[in-house]
Amino acid sequence: MITGGAKLAGVVGWPVRHSRSPLVHNYWLARHGIDGAYLPLPVAPEHFATAIHGLRAAGFRGVNVTIPHKEAAFEICTQVDHAARRAGAVNTILFSGDKIIGSNTDGSGFIANLRAHGVEPAAGPALMLGAGGAARAIAAALLERGVQVSIANRSIDRAHDLAAQLPGLRVMYWQERHAAVADHALLINATAAGLQSDAPLDQDFSRAAPTLAVADVVYVPLITKLLADAAARGLRTIGGLGMLMHQAVPGFAQWFGVTPIVDQEIFDYVSADIPVV
Ligand code: NDP
Repeated sequence: MITGGAKLAGVVGWPVRHSRSPLVHNYWLARHGIDGAYLPLPVAPEHFATAIHGLRAAGFRGVNVTIPHKEAAFEICTQVDHAARRAGAVNTILFSGDKIIGSNTDGSGFIANLRAHGVEPAAGPALMLGAGGAARAIAAALLERGVQVSIANRSIDRAHDLAAQLPGLRVMYWQERHAAVADHALLINATAAGLQSDAPLDQDFSRAAPTLAVADVVYVPLITKLLADAAARGLRTIGGLGMLMHQAVPGFAQWFGVTPIVDQEIFDYVSADIPVV
């Protein structure tokens, strides 16, 4: 039930049809009986600034920001938190008076999801595949926690660019990722490879230690080929859907005043909308 006093938030993206964030937030709104709504907001890049100022003027509490607007969101904010500055990108905006306050919860959401699966990020060195926005946010969060991080990206120039922005990152060639699993405690796919319509990521696990944990940021399908291959070798696996839910928690708390819980019930509810393989 929405009244004239409803609290409003949403997700700004282009396209935004694929986003499961409305499912997550509206589930929590219903669970907590909050008079509010969370809307999908498709906004083309050339209209991003106009839309953000318009949403603020319309009384929205704030928004999540997704592809391709996270860097533009960083630019438009009047203040940003440390994680957003390190990531060079904003995924969560709070409107507060004249202020547009940005944060980046992708890295902390990834780590919260690891911990929810019983994996301590500081247990050993991490090998990150990818050098895009998600990789940058996660690498920054891991480095902050004292984790040694190596990255391999299909285009090595982009990996070097990322290492220049995040001192401490070690760059390796894309082909080295197969042998490198032997020396790492955590393998992270932060590339877009594995998304349902794309060719799956090819990763050889034959040299992995039995204690290797394998995490994927991709959550469509729920069990990517990477995760299926790792599980077939008896390795611990962590899917991307939990990250999506954990990164949503701080925004929900800021806009709606309740800190929601990521539990099996919401996982089952949202995953019912996503192909398993
Ligand atoms: P970017 O466009 O910034 O980066 C894409 C990355 O994927 C680049 O490193 C790119 O390599 C690599 N890549 C793309 N296709 C392939 C391929 N076929 N083989 C190898 N590498 C490939 O995207 P983001 O970082 O913003 O997003 C990456 C993924 O993370 C997306 O699938 C997104 O949905 C997901 N994501 C999930 C979240 C969650 O909550 N679970 C949160 C945020 C993102 P190259 O540089 O060589 O092109």
